[in-house]
Amino acid sequence: MASGDGKQDDRLDAVVAAAQHSRARREQGYREQALKLYPWVCGRCGREFTRANLHELTVHHRDHNHDNNPPDGSNWELLCLYCHDNEHARYLEAGQVPAGGDDASTARVSHKALAGLAALLNRKP
Ligand SMILES: [Zn+2]
Ligand SMILES: [Zn+2]
Repeated sequence: MASGDGKQDDRLDAVVAAAQHSRARREQGYREQALKLYPWVCGRCGREFTRANLHELTVHHRDHNHDNNPPDGSNWELLCLYCHDNEHARYLEAGQVPAGGDDASTARVSHKALAGLAALLNRKP
């Protein structure tokens, strides 16, 4: 076991945090555009949204590639949280995309933070 692993973990955490941050900002950008382009209605179940519950309306990428964001919105679809989950579950069942999908990555980050904490607690003086 090499000493100094902790430092490397910190650096990796910083890189991951920075990547998460820029990703969150980019997602904010296309979400705003999609909400301007489309009526606030879920494309699957037809549920309508207002400012009060707009956070439950999400932007789905039709081709599941979150880097594909044409300004005309042709790759976006507004889905409520539940239909969005279903959409990704179907896609994952088909085995066409690695776990993680095009959004929902916060769970992995907190998991990593917990692992880092465990390592700290286990460190011998
Ligand atoms: Zn829906
Ligand atoms: Zn999606």
